[in-house]
Parts: sequence; structure tokens; C-alpha cells
Amino acid sequence: MPTLVHGYAAHSFDADLVPWSFERRDLRPDDVEMDVLFCGVCHSDIHHVRNDWGGESYPIVPGHEIVGRVTRTGPDVSKYKVGDTVGVGCLVDSCQHCSSCKSLLEQYCENGSTLTYASKDRHDGTPTYGGYSSKIVVTENFVLGIPDGLDLAGAAPLLCAGITTYSPLRRWKAGPGKKVAVVGLGGLGHMALKLAKAMGADVTLFSRSKGKEDDARRLGADHIVISQSEAEMKAVAGNFDLIIDTVPYDHDLNPYIATLAPEGTIVLVGYLGPLSNSLNTAPMVFRGRSLGSSLIGGLAETQEMLDFCGEHGIVSDIELIKIQDVNEAYGRMLKSDVKYRFVIDLDSLKS
Ligand code: NAP
Ligand code: ZN
Repeated sequence: MPTLVHGYAAHSFDADLVPWSFERRDLRPDDVEMDVLFCGVCHSDIHHVRNDWGGESYPIVPGHEIVGRVTRTGPDVSKYKVGDTVGVGCLVDSCQHCSSCKSLLEQYCENGSTLTYASKDRHDGTPTYGGYSSKIVVTENFVLGIPDGLDLAGAAPLLCAGITTYSPLRRWKAGPGKKVAVVGLGGLGHMALKLAKAMGADVTLFSRSKGKEDDARRLGADHIVISQSEAEMKAVAGNFDLIIDTVPYDHDLNPYIATLAPEGTIVLVGYLGPLSNSLNTAPMVFRGRSLGSSLIGGLAETQEMLDFCGEHGIVSDIELIKIQDVNEAYGRMLKSDVKYRFVIDLDSLKS
């Protein structure tokens, strides 16, 4: 029998999220059912709800930074048992046989990965609903283990903000002797600072916002550059081996490219869409600079990131909220007013 669960949903692009009940499927042999304990609020949740990328179907139950406790398992599940603390990120399935899946890059599944919400289940075509809800059911291969000792609410954002920044830091070899800069101090940005610091890099934050300097240093930044200041930007010209750009909206990349060292790379993980400022290729070609991009990470790399965070005691800096306050949290994120990730305590669904 399917299970009735409670959550919060958006019913249109311009409406607040409201309480909504829906069914979770009965367990398939390889399914894990969990109570959602905590769920992070990612800026992608806002993009989906507001239909920034187009093509959304409503209702949307957002949430892809999930920490839960296993309540039931299907007969073929071997990795998890009732009572385990587990995580679910942005993906809940993929074809498992294309070359991307075989290369452990399920996020680039050539047959289309199944997102945790705003997607269609690949077996029965039903809509997927995310972690702003009391329970979720996910196939075992897309469930992650949360290392012992991590604060569970603080660990939730690792499932998206953590892996989205860990993966390009690893791919472009952040580490000792490397100068890494991060654009934007929000959910992704603050994880990028913590992770790059733990990997041993020299870390810089680019921010539009004055007043985040002390926090940025505490989070791992060795240097802070106010991106609106021409003088501060000029002072770091030709400096960085790697820039991770987390800004969610259209912005001019040219000033950041000027701050890359020869053969440096700027990796876009935030904004999706056309740029209104065209990119000048001359400062790129004459210094062998590159533009890169990255989407979350595969399942194995996500587990590697969680284990890395377990070893280094890294979790997100969070503001824990009740689900009833999620609309206010969206409003604050749109004003860059979050320190540095909202996490929903799903216990509040009972109140
Ligand atoms: P967030 O918490 O809202 O942080 C974004 C930060 O970017 C803000 O704190 C602000 O930092 C800066 N910013 C915001 N608007 C800006 C603007 N118009 N111009 C310049 N800077 C601006 O967002 P998030 O959750 O970190 O997500 C960031 C982006 O990454 C979103 O677009 C999200 O959809 C995307 N994302 C991508 C992936 C992926 O796999 N590639 C995964 C997750 C999320 P300052 O105040 O310091 O300037
Ligand atoms: Zn996300």
C-alpha cells in the first residue's frame, strides 16, 4: 500500500509553498524508506518553484539536501537497515548502463537522470517529490551513508552544496600551493570555502556584500575581495588557479577572468542561461585560461565527499527553521541574507 505523507508544495510559480499531502510508492525490492529528519534549502529550490528554467509541472515539493532515518527496506536491500542515518541528494535514479553511469557520473546520465523532485520516476512515470516532506522512498543505490559524529542538520546541505563544490575542487586539483577563489558567499560558496581550506589551498572570497568579511575568514577564506571595487579586483589580476563561481543569476564573467593566472580555470556552478555580457575571448586565449562547469557529482564521489567531511569534521553553518517559515527563508535568500544555509527541521511538520 502507498503511504500518505505530509509536506509543503508550490502549486504555481508565483504562490507561496503551502501544506500538501501526497502518496509515496509502496516499496520496490531495492527501495529504502526513510523519515526525513532535516532538509536543506538550496537556491535551486527557488529556481524550480519560480520556474526560472522553464518547463516545470506543479505541484512541486522541493528539497534535495535530505538527512533521514531508515524506517523500512525492500527485500533486496543490503547496504542499509532500519534505524540507519542516511542521506539523499539531487538524484534518486539513473539508467545505470550508459557510459556516464558506468563512469560513475550518474548526474550526466545519457538517458536522463531522475531528480529528487520535479522529475518523473523512470519505472512508473509518476512525479518525484522532494524532502520538504515527512518521508521519502529511494532506490538503495542512490542512498548515501552519513558518517558518524557529524551534526545531522548541518550535514544535510552536504548532499547538494557540499558535493557541488567538492567535485570541481577535486577535478581541478585544489590543494597545497593552489590559489582558489570562490564567487558568492551563500550556501554553495561557504561550503566551497570550507572544503578548499581543508584541501590545503590558499582561499579567497569574492563577494558583493560588505560585512561578510569576518564570517568569510572564520569559514576558511585567507583573503576577501569586494567584487564591486575596481581597485580590489585589479589588485588580484592574474592571481588564481581556480575560481568557483556560485552566483545564481546572470552576471559579467570578464572581470573574474582577468583575475585568473595563466592556464587558470573559472568553473561555473551557479547561473544557467545566456550571458548578457558577451565573453571576451582574447584575455582567455592569450593566457590559456579556461571556462569550465560542473553539475553536483556522482554517487561514489558524493560518498567520498561525505567521508572527507566526516574525517575533517566539516558541516554546513546553518539556520535551522520550521517548515512553516520556508517562504520567509526564500525571501531572505533572494536578498543574500542567509548564514549560510537554511535547514528545515521536519519535526515541525507535526506542529
Ligand atoms: P545562495 O545561498 O542564495 O547564495 C548565492 C550567493 O551568490 C549570494 O549569497 C551572493 O553572495 C551571491 N549573489 C546572489 N545574487 C547575486 C547577483 N545577482 N549577482 C552577484 N552575486 C550574487 O545560493 P546557493 O544555494 O549557494 O546556489 C547558488 C547557485 O548554484 C544557484 O543558482 C543554484 O541553482 C546553483 N546550484 C548549482 C548546482 C550544480 O550542480 N551546478 C547545485 C546546486 C545549486 P555575496 O552576497 O557574497 O555576493
Ligand atoms: Zn541544490
